[in-house]
Amino acid sequence: MTNIKNNDFLALTRQHENHLPASRFEDNKHSFEIWDTGVLQVSPIGASKFDLAIVLSAGIHGNETAPIEMINELIKEILTKEITLKRPVLFIFGNPPSMNINKRFVIENLNRLFCSTYLNGVDINGDRTNLERQRAEKLECYVARFYQTYDSENKCHYDLHTAIKDSVHEKFAVYPYIGNSPWKTQQFELLRAMDVTTVMLMQKPATTFSYHSSSVHGADSFTIELGKVRGFGENDKSKFEKAKVTLRNLMCGIDVDKTLFDEANFVMLKVHRSITKNYGDFELGFDDQLANFSEFKEGELLAKENGDDIVAEIDGEAIVFPNAAVEIGQRAILTVVPTSVSNSII
Ligand SMILES: [Zn+2]
Repeated sequence: MTNIKNNDFLALTRQHENHLPASRFEDNKHSFEIWDTGVLQVSPIGASKFDLAIVLSAGIHGNETAPIEMINELIKEILTKEITLKRPVLFIFGNPPSMNINKRFVIENLNRLFCSTYLNGVDINGDRTNLERQRAEKLECYVARFYQTYDSENKCHYDLHTAIKDSVHEKFAVYPYIGNSPWKTQQFELLRAMDVTTVMLMQKPATTFSYHSSSVHGADSFTIELGKVRGFGENDKSKFEKAKVTLRNLMCGIDVDKTLFDEANFVMLKVHRSITKNYGDFELGFDDQLANFSEFKEGELLAKENGDDIVAEIDGEAIVFPNAAVEIGQRAILTVVPTSVSNSII
């Protein structure tokens, strides 16, 4: 009945890292459509209308294995009929060639190429296109196709990652910029059920996968960091259990109770500023290994370049994703400060 050997979609994806021919099969509860390598749509049979269309992605960065394994286990539960979906789901393993070399990416960071950024300029080799640019374009098409199929439904997308660095808050989510739209208690409660209670509220458009689904399709969409990067098979699965249970419930039609929302249960952060590397001698003012969300006092050194000190502007300014090795002109440090969502939430 199934053409996924051992019900292991991850293994099938890794064996065909660049392309998997489209195919379709069904059991008595679900129809399965493979659209490409790492791209599988599963729809419940029997209903023509649903209340929610769900995109779950992992492996946009190939070495972030824990969420990749978790998604594969959820797919396996469907294929073996352990669980029955109430809502259509598009599963995506983002970057199979980089998964196979256990690297974040092959040529270029896939999660900076969405919103048609794959069309811009050239990569470090001077090429206008590469595997990651082609994949970003295809993933945008697959997400559009999925959401168009379920156009009248609410839409959500959870893009699952693990961080490279230690973090003061082990799990955190990035809530993409949504303009003047209100934040949603339902989404915060879903994150809390996943054990994610630190949320960064972005203040500007981005070129990430989650921002793409949010801005182009109006999906409730998040980048979710579930812990620290480890190799395949080396993850402590207990740390990801709450996320897995929550996503399983969501697919099976069991929702969180949004009336439980209390902002006091969360650390809400907004971007204070983005520090750009302008000169080749840019260096961090702190240890490279310092954890994400470490706080600084006003006047403390954040970075140096071209003979100038860049210092914290206010007490409690915290650093996220510092990287002195980026290209000149790119973001080297993001800083965040506490905020509240109470004046714009539904
Ligand atoms: Zn990542």
